[in-house]
Amino acid sequence: MADIPELINILREARSYLQKGEGDYSWSSWEDDRAALAEIDEIIRQLLLGDPPPTVLNVLLAPTGPMQEVSLSSGWGNEFVKLSDRFDQAMAANPCSCLEQHQSSLMVESHLGMDKSSGEVSVLKCPQCGQLWLRYFYENEAVTASGRWYECPISAYEKKMVTVDSAVDLMNSKPWFYVGGSYFDGLISKSKPPIRFG
Ligand SMILES: [Zn+2]
Repeated sequence: MADIPELINILREARSYLQKGEGDYSWSSWEDDRAALAEIDEIIRQLLLGDPPPTVLNVLLAPTGPMQEVSLSSGWGNEFVKLSDRFDQAMAANPCSCLEQHQSSLMVESHLGMDKSSGEVSVLKCPQCGQLWLRYFYENEAVTASGRWYECPISAYEKKMVTVDSAVDLMNSKPWFYVGGSYFDGLISKSKPPIRFG
């Protein structure tokens, strides 16, 4: 997990240089400084919402990216090189393994309640990196060893939008989730949707 506060700092500094104007945009992919600022503002907004860093950042802050072109033409080429180095460090910083390996230390953020299949929906948070998780627990009380839980990473935006009744659809739209519980013999693993009932 990248160092998000540092990424936001870097983008705000880059923004303050771009805002001075005077950049030559003829060699960059941006039309003008307004377009550049709008793109950066949108990325900052997403990061503040808790979304992971968008891949376009790797292009924007690359040593040969559009920002470098503008920085050279407007006299902050050296400052850009430092920002680009800091960007590399921020992207590699603070590695949390919760996306690779299930963490049992996730904290409950909120209980959304029970859906129409009598599954319990809750939102969890990783105490190390702040990653949000949607959890779904289902059990058929008539069947022994039928308890199962599913956990998938979600963005802050998804947390805001998800409801008890849309939780299963959201989780089924994800590329993977963690599964565990007596239904899976107590083994925790990464699995592909859909959520199984019955
Ligand atoms: Zn984490």
